[in-house]
Amino acid sequence: MLNYSLIDMSELKFYELTPNQRLETLNLPENVMMALKNAQDLVSGQIIENYVSNFTVPMGILKHLLLDGTAYNIPMATEEPSVIAAANHGAKMLNAGGGVHTELLTDNTMIGQILIHQITDYTALQVFLTAHRDEIFAKAQATHPSIVARGGGLKNIELRMVTDNMASIDCFIDTCDAMGANIVNTILAGIIPIFDIFHTQILAGILSNYATQQLVSATVCLPFSAVGGQDIAERIVAINHFGHHDVYRATTENKGLFNGASAVTLANGNDWRALEAAGHAYAAKTGGYTALATWSIEQQQLKGTLTLPVSVGTVGGAISALPQAQNALRIIGERVSANQLRRMIVATGLAQNLAALRAIVSDGIQKGHMRMQYRALALQIGATPDEVPQLTEKLTQLSRVDTTIATQYLNELRE
Ligand code: NDP
Repeated sequence: MLNYSLIDMSELKFYELTPNQRLETLNLPENVMMALKNAQDLVSGQIIENYVSNFTVPMGILKHLLLDGTAYNIPMATEEPSVIAAANHGAKMLNAGGGVHTELLTDNTMIGQILIHQITDYTALQVFLTAHRDEIFAKAQATHPSIVARGGGLKNIELRMVTDNMASIDCFIDTCDAMGANIVNTILAGIIPIFDIFHTQILAGILSNYATQQLVSATVCLPFSAVGGQDIAERIVAINHFGHHDVYRATTENKGLFNGASAVTLANGNDWRALEAAGHAYAAKTGGYTALATWSIEQQQLKGTLTLPVSVGTVGGAISALPQAQNALRIIGERVSANQLRRMIVATGLAQNLAALRAIVSDGIQKGHMRMQYRALALQIGATPDEVPQLTEKLTQLSRVDTTIATQYLNELRE
């Protein structure tokens, strides 16, 4: 522990300073400095390097999403104004069909890779792997015995050729209720020394975020009335079909569903970049990038399916450290498992997807969006929280709105 009173500050590196000392070096106006100091907390200061303050993101609730027969209230954290309203609208439509049915499609293991290059004798590598299989499993168990005690740990190993001289030893690891990035990397570090005779060829041992063994699907069948009639249902299918053939449309459609899926992931302290990286890779699994969700008309109903690779946890990482992540999980239920959370993330993605597709083929996305955007605009031009509803109401009645017009109406409101 450094005794700061005895130290000349200029001799310290930035990361060695306290959060307030770091702020002092940034030449900030007093009001900015105070605001940043007021947003600090001790826990967050221990989680990242060079910490100075917290950046909070609004959290709201997706209320009453029917998922496998149970209604859930799901916290979502997002900075985008219209996302939570749209998710709730989407959930209402999904619930009209009896809610979402979800399924875990794979064995739910995370993949760790031992990356090998400059291979001259692929067969020798294969023979070595077979001969040392038991030793590898024993070492994996010894490296992380507590995950084995929970029923997890290394479950399988496969050698996969990448090119003529590159291969990946794929290690399939069950990380139970943890997302597992650190668990996987720890186990890989434990078993890599077994491959010592190939040591010059081993590039790295690292998890893969392409979580193809953690696939979750969500399906829904809706009466046409849920979306406002057969004509709208057919237009939803048509625009989704577009997303299966046009990468420009697919990217936007997928971004829209991650508005929901990532907001759920972030609210409970999970790694939403991992979710999105895996999802976008999965969207390109056939070689071309396409829409992740599929909508069709079957037996006079609108059927929607979304399958995503989902690596999340309900323990470990920032999830256990950040009180707000714990609070968000508590909103969902008393003991939420990683598998339950996976199902919710994909179901919310489907709700968000439906709400967006329905909006753009019927009323247009702007109608719902703008009311929420005007709230943000009102705050941006200095309206107080009390003034926001009245100003927003006024702005939604206008055919054109910009900062000058909004300011003018705010001033009139105050007269
Ligand atoms: P941790 O390293 O915190 O591991 C989770 C720990 O939780 C386990 O080791 C275990 O410790 C404990 N635990 C308690 N109960 C359970 C349970 N029921 N199931 C499983 N574990 C339990 O976190 P992760 O390995 O999950 O790593 C997640 C973090 O890694 C995320 O914050 C992520 O952002 C980050 N990360 C992501 C990377 C990527 O995606 N590429 C790369 C590197 C890091 P014990 O057995 O001792 O009780």
